[in-house]
Amino acid sequence: MIPYGTQSITEEDISAVVETLRSSYLTQGPKVTQFETALAEYCGAKYAACTNSATSALHISCLALGLTQGDWLWTSPNSFVASANCGLYCGAKVDFVDIEPTHLNICPDKLEQKLIAAERNGCLPKVIVVVHFAGQPCEMKTIAKLAKQYNFKVIEDASHAIGSSYNNNKTGNGHYSDITVFSFHPVKIITSAEGGCALTNCSKIDNKLKSLRSHGITRDLDLMKSDPEGNWVYEQQELGFNYRMTDLQAALGLSQLSRLDDYITQRHHLANVYDERLKELPVKLPARSTDSYSALHLYPIQLDLDSISLSRAQVFNVLREHDVGVNVHYIPIHLQPFYKKLGFTAGDFPNAEKYYSRALTIPLHPKLQQSDIDYIIYTLKRSLT
Ligand SMILES: *Cc1c(COP(=O)(O)O)cnc(C)c1O
Repeated sequence: MIPYGTQSITEEDISAVVETLRSSYLTQGPKVTQFETALAEYCGAKYAACTNSATSALHISCLALGLTQGDWLWTSPNSFVASANCGLYCGAKVDFVDIEPTHLNICPDKLEQKLIAAERNGCLPKVIVVVHFAGQPCEMKTIAKLAKQYNFKVIEDASHAIGSSYNNNKTGNGHYSDITVFSFHPVKIITSAEGGCALTNCSKIDNKLKSLRSHGITRDLDLMKSDPEGNWVYEQQELGFNYRMTDLQAALGLSQLSRLDDYITQRHHLANVYDERLKELPVKLPARSTDSYSALHLYPIQLDLDSISLSRAQVFNVLREHDVGVNVHYIPIHLQPFYKKLGFTAGDFPNAEKYYSRALTIPLHPKLQQSDIDYIIYTLKRSLT
């Protein structure tokens, strides 16, 4: 099966992990600090806090921005469930803003309309999680302007989008948001096995993230509430979690980071081949905007169901039967049984639902060979005509 996305591990990656395995730190130690420094530098952010997943980074990011019971968090329905769950972890209420049909990201016009209505009803959101779907940055200028006007915080869920840029700003540099989160899950652009990171330019937020990822404990003498009796003393100052990344993971992530730009160049090369060779087919290809550089985490096509004889499920099955590991991104979050129980229903976010009904993600990752691409295109063509 040709997977839709997969990790690419080199001998250098393996050596980096093995070397760390022979060192005195396995858990969070100097490699994590090194990875954080490299990530911050790559993105042009002041601070980076690594965690054991993007999900935990999203959770403590919400907490660090003060999200709590009674507050609202809004996000895009066209995302992985973690983009919304982080609000519920904090006891906040979650709502969604529908997507725009071109880039499939949160729609700035719909966001503004919803903010106007929420202001009238006294229920403005405290945090909005925008998701750079498939690696394509959202319209951050408008979102940042609305954030100022309506006084909400912005988290960029850039799980798909490390290495992308918008308006010449590298995603993660914090120009348009309070916190940016990356995921290093193996299907993402670079991997640390499991892992995530939250970047910010605010030292207070960074301190809070680093406290919350490790039980709310500090060993920093400058931060202690009372004079320590001895060197063994640590203080728990708030309720935190064990969300730490290990040095083994950081060593892998750090080694992968050195190839990030090459990976994205390769993704662009492959996507250009798809763009060219699929344009005659009854499918809508993913759009790329001129004011941004996508990380191209995914290549989601939309089937023109009116002009083909098979359903989306049938096309999916035919491709899977022929070892093309297609997938679907995403089942709209509000249609998950858990979210339906909270009161959401079909029809709430029609653009996300319409997109989903026709969506199919075809394989895109740097390990694809020309022969794989030929085979994927051949198989897709046959299933559509
Ligand atoms: C993968 C992903 C996450 C979760 O990442 P983990 O590191 O697996 O926790 C969150 N949001 C989006 C958009 C993702 O694609």
